Amino acid sequence: MGEIFVLVEHRQETIRDITYEMLGAGEKIAAEQGSSLTAVLLGHGVKNAAEELALRASKVLVVEDETLENFNSPPYQKVLSALYTKYQPFLTLIGHTAFGMDLAPRVSVELGLPLATDCIGLSTQGSRLKATRSIYGGKVQASVSLRESPGYLATIRPGTFPAKTPAEKKGGIVIEPSPLSETFDARKFVEYFEAPLTGEDITQADIIVSVGQGIGGPENIPLAEEVAKNLGGVLACSRPVVDRNWLPKERQVGISGKTVKPKVYIAIGISGAFQHVTAMQGSETIIAINKDPRAPIFSVADYGIVDDFQNILPVLKEKTKGMK
Ligand code: FAD
Repeated sequence: MGEIFVLVEHRQETIRDITYEMLGAGEKIAAEQGSSLTAVLLGHGVKNAAEELALRASKVLVVEDETLENFNSPPYQKVLSALYTKYQPFLTLIGHTAFGMDLAPRVSVELGLPLATDCIGLSTQGSRLKATRSIYGGKVQASVSLRESPGYLATIRPGTFPAKTPAEKKGGIVIEPSPLSETFDARKFVEYFEAPLTGEDITQADIIVSVGQGIGGPENIPLAEEVAKNLGGVLACSRPVVDRNWLPKERQVGISGKTVKPKVYIAIGISGAFQHVTAMQGSETIIAINKDPRAPIFSVADYGIVDDFQNILPVLKEKTKGMK
């Protein structure tokens, strides 16, 4: 059985968390199939990253090329396809991130391999890949079985698999020559651009009171903000709140906003779509207030209040006075 490839995702010399999560997911499949786990590292000046990855994979395949320093799907596609052709892995895992969503379909089409996207679970049945995908905003989990194929591709939803921890024994590092000779002018990386921060940094807060579309309108937000202040916390929100201009973008929690891990996260009128939950489920204690008892947010909450926030927030405001 071919090995399990994990395409390393890195940015500005830092390996991104999704890589370790994919190594965790890949380890399970490797054990099921009696195969081995290989981290595929494409980049430039990535010696330290390769050493770090060798503690988490049986092998690290490295392709160094200046063109690979920053993500750009055409050269990444070319190199990954060349490595697939040489090594014939059983499964190649790619992050379901902006990076992976761009790359995986291109590789799938080029190599004619089945691709399961946005997977939250993976297993095998004989030599066939099975995947679990969460659909309809997290309300339904679909179990899909992919067609018989010598190799499979899957993109993995960030935050769903436990990260692989370092082992005592180091895997080998194999340097592969770069197959790139041409320049890629059609699309190229220009620069990283960090959005300027004008208010509080929600990623540093211990207590977050976060409002969703269920808050009804901007007129109700000061009540939530008062609870946040009483607790010594900060106010955050879901994406629709930003889209409606009720709060600025820097307050947004989610895959297209910030990832937060406070001690306490209070979600008010937030349904619990995965795009939101992925970025806050690492919080130590999650408290959800939602009038719908079937809201997906309750599946990640430690404590849940099923009620209209209008009945709860005034009481919370009184009870938290002076608590800070
Ligand atoms: P809704 O889904 O409308 O939920 C409102 C909730 O409030 C409901 O559960 C309802 O029961 C409850 N409610 C209503 N009234 C009351 C009341 N009076 N009292 C108590 N509860 C009440 N979302 C993010 O949050 N962050 C992201 O970064 C993000 N990125 C995305 C990226 C992409 C590419 C896409 C496609 C989507 C993204 N989304 C993101 C949007 C996401 O899919 C959801 O649409 C969004 O999270 C829903 O926000 P919400 O829970 O506030 O609103």
